[in-house]
Amino acid sequence: MLPYRYIKNNRAKHYRITLKADHIRVTIPRYGSKRRAEVFTESKKEWIESVIKKSVQRKIYSTEEIETLRAQAKNYIPERVTKLAETHGFVFNDIRIKKIRTRWGSCSRRKNLNFSLYLMLVDHTYIDYVILHELSHTVEMNHGPKFWALLESVCPGSKKLDREMRDFSNMF
Ligand SMILES: [Zn+2]
Repeated sequence: MLPYRYIKNNRAKHYRITLKADHIRVTIPRYGSKRRAEVFTESKKEWIESVIKKSVQRKIYSTEEIETLRAQAKNYIPERVTKLAETHGFVFNDIRIKKIRTRWGSCSRRKNLNFSLYLMLVDHTYIDYVILHELSHTVEMNHGPKFWALLESVCPGSKKLDREMRDFSNMF
């Protein structure tokens, strides 16, 4: 377990835990105390441990590995998007493959779709899920009930897949 470092920050409004390379920083807000920060940290113990475990699994990819993933993604994703769009009657504009870790995909108002090349690291079921998620945004731009109903109609079990994809995103 990494050591804790308690740091008072008068601009902070809440207690906050940040994982650093060699310690865990606990931010104490303006009206907070170290005693209460310790109680807060104790209540978050399991969460902290799971984050540390995942960060160990997180791998740094070499330029060569990234280019391989990009080539695989360019070869696979546009064709798959076209197929799934045809099957379910979605219309989109353009597809781009990007090197982003923070999001699996996105869809602009102009129906341009972006996908992360890291998708090539997960099972094809999940790639299909992300594609159908973004294609559903060409109809429903938000995450409201209509969006989820549409997504569920083209991708049964979508909520469960969504949760699992969030777990994955912490691992790369
Ligand atoms: Zn979305």
